[in-house]
Amino acid sequence: MDSRVHAFLSVDKSSALDAARRWDARRADADALPPLAGLPVAIKDIICSQGLPTTCGSRILEGWRSPYDATVITRLREAGAIVIGKTNLDEFAMGSSTENSAFGPTRNPWDLARVPGGSSGGSAAAVSADMVPLALGTDTGGSVRLPAAFTGIVGLKPTYSRVSRYGLVAFASSLDQIGPLARTVADAALLLQVIAGRDPRDSTSADLPVPDYSASLPDGVKGMKIGIPREAIGAGLQREVNDAVLAAARVLEQAGASLIEVSLPTIEYAVPTYYILAPSEASANLARYDGVKYGLRVRTPDIHAMYARTRGEGFGTEVKRRIMLGTYALSAGFYEGFFLKAQQVRTLVRKDFTVAFGSVDLVLMPVAPTVAFKLGEKAHDPLQMYLTDIYTIPVNLAGLPGISVPCGSADGLPIGLQLIGKPFDEATVLRAAHTYEQSTEWHKARPQLT
Ligand code: GLN
Repeated sequence: MDSRVHAFLSVDKSSALDAARRWDARRADADALPPLAGLPVAIKDIICSQGLPTTCGSRILEGWRSPYDATVITRLREAGAIVIGKTNLDEFAMGSSTENSAFGPTRNPWDLARVPGGSSGGSAAAVSADMVPLALGTDTGGSVRLPAAFTGIVGLKPTYSRVSRYGLVAFASSLDQIGPLARTVADAALLLQVIAGRDPRDSTSADLPVPDYSASLPDGVKGMKIGIPREAIGAGLQREVNDAVLAAARVLEQAGASLIEVSLPTIEYAVPTYYILAPSEASANLARYDGVKYGLRVRTPDIHAMYARTRGEGFGTEVKRRIMLGTYALSAGFYEGFFLKAQQVRTLVRKDFTVAFGSVDLVLMPVAPTVAFKLGEKAHDPLQMYLTDIYTIPVNLAGLPGISVPCGSADGLPIGLQLIGKPFDEATVLRAAHTYEQSTEWHKARPQLT
């Protein structure tokens, strides 16, 4: 199937089969099995794993192999999961369509002429096409939730610092989070349970207890207050998406939640703010790819020429655009006007959510303004591509948990509902998403790939 979808960049067939045989042999003693025993999990190729290449979708890391496992990979292996392969992504996770991969785009299993969303498009497509039950992605500005919405599956961005990033290749360090992609909310809860929690190897990981996410799923939404931001509904939104999201809110109301209008007045500044902050952080994080320690080296007698040609040939167009934007925004004379200003606006966006969460338990809005677009449709218009993330980026700026769950369809393509929670309240997000999912049939729809 993957010859048509191109979700995977590498597959570890022999170790996966070996591991599968080992778990099969232990199956007789079912009580002693760890929670993910024998389940194949696909990993976005920006998370370091021993034994398989980690390319970040970039020529600059082509063929590079990590000498160690990321903490999430260690935890998956301990839980019995089988790391079956590494999935395609926009180069260094910069993009919303997976078209920015140096190794060719991934296609949406619902319509092969359309994008799966990005940047975790390979992970989402692999789950959507039933190649794997579970996958990991990363979400800096929407890269788990958007592809989940575009491919009709569940994708969760945990609270900033909920999941260890040891072994995650950094894009924008104040925003990056690893999150689960799955067919159902219960599966996403199971996967989050395995990867969440303090890691002494990542000083930014939160030292807070991890609740039992699966246990509270059946508790329902009675008495829950759900806020709908007036800025997120109506204009600028594909009609069917607007209708599906409002219909989903009514399903939750029928299940016992109350709907309350809230306001997030600064979210209109979230995209421009993000496109100062994320490229600034990226320009610093990507300075390490200079041909000396990792991956590609273009050999020239002069060392400065070696740096320049390695970076010139190793990075793609979008990555270069971000490095230039970020370097500019951080440079003397522009720092106050761009980077510092963006940090201040970020605080305002965060405050909007804090105010809203003073009166509600969850915020509900779309994941994306449209359903999946066609390959090539936005590839040459960066601004249009950036605007795809208008509903997901504010959540990263505020560091909050957010989920995408299937809630409708337009032209045969899935629509995602986004539920956003208070910091570290993934349990409430998952519980509401599960209640919604179990009251509807959307999660049962499958793409017709044969
Ligand atoms: N589409 C956004 C970007 O290009 C978000 C990417 C992400 O979440 N990794 O930066």
